[in-house]
Amino acid sequence: MSHEKIKVIIAGAGIAGLTLAIALRRLPYIEVEVFEQATELREIGASIAISPNGLRSLERLGVLNALEEAIGFRNPSGVPMIFRHWETDEIIREEPFVDVPLRRHQTARFHRAQLQSALLEHVPPSIIHVKKRIARAEASDDHVALFFADGTSAVGEVLIGADGIHSNIRKTFFPNHRGFPTGKVWLRSAFPYSTVENIPSLPADSAQWWGPKGAFMASRMGKDLFTTVCNFDLPIDTIKDIQSSQEGSVEVLRQRFQSYSPVVQALAHATPYTRAYPNYAGEPLSTWLLEQRVTIAGDAAHPHGGAFAAGGSLAIDDAYALFLAFEHALGRERTCKPTLVEIQCVLAVYDQTRRPHASKLCTLVLEGLRAQSSITRADDNPIDRVNDKPNATWLS
Ligand SMILES: Cc1cc2nc3c(=O)[nH]c(=O)nc-3n(C[C@H](O)[C@H](O)[C@H](O)COP(=O)(O)OP(=O)(O)OC[C@H]3O[C@@H](n4cnc5c(N)ncnc54)[C@H](O)[C@@H]3O)c2cc1C
Repeated sequence: MSHEKIKVIIAGAGIAGLTLAIALRRLPYIEVEVFEQATELREIGASIAISPNGLRSLERLGVLNALEEAIGFRNPSGVPMIFRHWETDEIIREEPFVDVPLRRHQTARFHRAQLQSALLEHVPPSIIHVKKRIARAEASDDHVALFFADGTSAVGEVLIGADGIHSNIRKTFFPNHRGFPTGKVWLRSAFPYSTVENIPSLPADSAQWWGPKGAFMASRMGKDLFTTVCNFDLPIDTIKDIQSSQEGSVEVLRQRFQSYSPVVQALAHATPYTRAYPNYAGEPLSTWLLEQRVTIAGDAAHPHGGAFAAGGSLAIDDAYALFLAFEHALGRERTCKPTLVEIQCVLAVYDQTRRPHASKLCTLVLEGLRAQSSITRADDNPIDRVNDKPNATWLS
């Protein structure tokens, strides 16, 4: 059967952009092209935890290789989130799964490059265009267009902004949206598990230690790798000068956590390097239907930064949700090209079914930031902070 296709152009080849490409290519009436500013597709960020919702969406999209035990580490205890006392290592809070009977759907921790490779196995290289920094985007009744810094352009019938938390597409079509640094910075590292496996009392499961100097997280990842991740507060003026993924200082890491338990200190000392990630957040958007033919996905659509380690999984779910919106409104097997009214119907279904879920998280993150800013240093108790942290299992 021959199909008349619409062209969907995707801005950004992160988790959202790649999963969108995988999802939408399943529909025979859609042709996809992805445009990425990086010179090559190489994930340098350290770890990423993908939660049951993200893993289930990947499974439904046929990305079964991402669910393999070898590339994603799952806690042996079966409890995904374990918080420990920062001085004594005692477990102070656990967040068990709710309704996740299958082990392959349990939270898996990946090196980002491994997850990216798993996604790339499902995307033909010919549809990903690197070295294409989007300078400008345009939308009219009959087409959308991206204009790149190298002077070239691309035209399509639908545009999806999957260009991350500082999204150009969002800024173009939703200029009044407000994003801001949260005052937190993250330091992350990835290295072989053999570097730390002999540390006495190293927990077998991933763990987080929240204390007065910040939160420290450590976990095994797939492929016998290990990650240390910490976050702490810095003055906003300092944070504004930090570029995402710039080299951080292991000395800062070691000094900052020197009053924590011997396990944390040993992990900080074993960490060979760090990269810094300033954290940003923003208000939930009032619509994801930015223009008649333009929508957004991933961090571009729900800018909540690293909070709840949820953004990657939600980006995957966004892609699956948009696929379902197309399938719901236009079916799977369709031979004629969708009209503008039909495209708008698809994007409206996506907006109305998906945005409230993601907005709930953005709102929760903003409430948490406001509550935190009202706590004085003298009143701050890290144990209370762990116990008062909202349970986010609804996300899965
Ligand atoms: C410290 C930290 C820890 C985190 N940990 C977790 C975790 O454990 N689990 C989890 O689920 N989430 C986690 N997250 C969130 C997660 O990383 C993001 O939600 C996820 O990467 C979003 O994917 P994305 O594709 O929407 O955006 P991105 O990954 O930012 O991808 C956007 C892409 O668009 C490209 N781009 C941007 N601008 C342009 C332009 N002008 N022209 C062309 N291309 C452009 C970028 O180069 C990039 O490749 C964490 C975030 C942080 C900061």
